[in-house]
Amino acid sequence: MKKSLNTKQIHILRKKGTEPAFSGKLLHNKEDGLYSCMGCENTLFSSKEKYDSGSGWPSFYNVHNSKSVKTKIDYSYSMKRTEVICYNCNGHLGHLFDDGPKYTGKRYCVNSKILNFTKK
Ligand SMILES: [Zn+2]
Repeated sequence: MKKSLNTKQIHILRKKGTEPAFSGKLLHNKEDGLYSCMGCENTLFSSKEKYDSGSGWPSFYNVHNSKSVKTKIDYSYSMKRTEVICYNCNGHLGHLFDDGPKYTGKRYCVNSKILNFTKK
């Protein structure tokens, strides 16, 4: 069953909001499982590729598969950043940076509040 979204989740997914750093419940989650989009249940990331970046947001160095996320250039707040959006529903998830660990060099920096965790 799809859960209905609360106002904070809608703010992030549909209005490109960002939750305060270190506020997310899943930030320090180390259990094995899959992370999916709150907006549509598309599987986004796996716990295998989650790591602690110290940024205050859940960080992943890779996506679950090629249908997980899309990226696009985001010029908001006078910065050029790469926005990470859900492949399926186009919901805003977070941003992609090039300072990730050696495996990929990528850091997918994602809001915890719009992630749904399913334990393996
Ligand atoms: Zn989605």
